[in-house]
Amino acid sequence: MNSKELFEESKRLMPGGVNSPVRAFRGVGGNPFFTARAEGCELTTCDGDVLIDMVCSWGPAIFGHNHPAIRQAIRSALDNGTSFGTPSFAELEMARLINEMVPCAQMVRMTNSGTEATMSCVRLMRGFTGRDRIVKFEGCYHGHTDSLLVKAGSGALTFGNPDSAGVPADLAKLTTVLPFNDFEALEDCFSKFGEQIAGVILEPYPANVGLIVPKDGFLKRIRQLCDKYGALLVFDEVITGFRMSKGGAQEYCGIVPDLCALGKIIGGGLPVGAFCGRADIMENVAPLGKVYQAGTLSGNPLAMAAGVAALNLIKQTNPYGELEKKAKFLVSAALEAAEKKGIGLQAPRAASLFSFFFNDEKVENCAQAMNSSRELYAKFFHECLSRGLYLAPSAFEICFISAAHTQEHLEKASEILKKSIEAI
Ligand SMILES: *Cc1c(COP(=O)(O)O)cnc(C)c1O
Repeated sequence: MNSKELFEESKRLMPGGVNSPVRAFRGVGGNPFFTARAEGCELTTCDGDVLIDMVCSWGPAIFGHNHPAIRQAIRSALDNGTSFGTPSFAELEMARLINEMVPCAQMVRMTNSGTEATMSCVRLMRGFTGRDRIVKFEGCYHGHTDSLLVKAGSGALTFGNPDSAGVPADLAKLTTVLPFNDFEALEDCFSKFGEQIAGVILEPYPANVGLIVPKDGFLKRIRQLCDKYGALLVFDEVITGFRMSKGGAQEYCGIVPDLCALGKIIGGGLPVGAFCGRADIMENVAPLGKVYQAGTLSGNPLAMAAGVAALNLIKQTNPYGELEKKAKFLVSAALEAAEKKGIGLQAPRAASLFSFFFNDEKVENCAQAMNSSRELYAKFFHECLSRGLYLAPSAFEICFISAAHTQEHLEKASEILKKSIEAI
């Protein structure tokens, strides 16, 4: 069956034909392709097309797909069984690596997804401080947990429902949402609610609304206000962790949060998340403390093996300089083509993270991102796809590059970006 036939049948059996909304291509129109195989930086579709992948499984595939060292680690683990339900050595190895690499990580708890990690951070910040109010930022996506699906990014934004149905108003009202990069709104919020705020959760480099780069001093000011009012600072590093640097955004920008949520890269392509932070806070998690959190498959041996292999590859190869160079190369190709064509294109970049906004103005918050042209992005997306380059199927997602993108792939990708901009 080809992708079109597979999708038709999937739509009958799964909402929208998918298990995660943005995969359905509704942000760009058309039918999604089905992937038969992924290797290095290439996807082979069920229709026999080979695509250069700039989505990388939405972040995890920092070494490309099906990396031999990660595959081998999973294979070796498989010989010893797929799930124990008891402590195992691989969990300790993982905890040691996170503790060594992530600045705030004195103690760690593994989960099965990023959503579970942020959800547990919220409960922990409330349990630790005895306060109920939390603060988040417009366009930041923290998974699909109730308290955080308020003015959220990613698929929620793509489909125009950043405030999900099914989130009780009584719960949503405990979440205060601020515009990103707005110092005044931040100060106001703390002077009004400071003593009630359990904590602030944010993506330090918001990457689910396209990419937004924090203004100088913005993250530092949040840190200071949290300290002043006894609120906790939580960085959601599910994307930025192990991607901006080996210690994530907190190492990259030098601001250390109290707690941090991890996911994506940490699973090496298997379903994993984690939250970590100051020991005196983490000691409030069950069974030591009163904040309940658990998981039947948490710390799963196959997932730990894949994740540990990915983190070891990061330690061995320190890929960040190369990744940033690749990102710069593609960004400058696109900007050059846009200038030539006379099209307003913004391509913010930080380390190897970048995104494309068809917008005449600089994009520094969610509202400005929403002013970008979705129509132009959709055209651009399909022009790229038809030439063999797969970008995220939404105007509000970022591009991911991997160590497996070779010079040859990059040159091809750069040509495709240029031709596609020319064609829209
Ligand atoms: C992907 C993502 C999540 C959710 O992780 P899942 O594993 O999809 O539940 C949370 N926060 C951020 C910043 C993300 O990008």
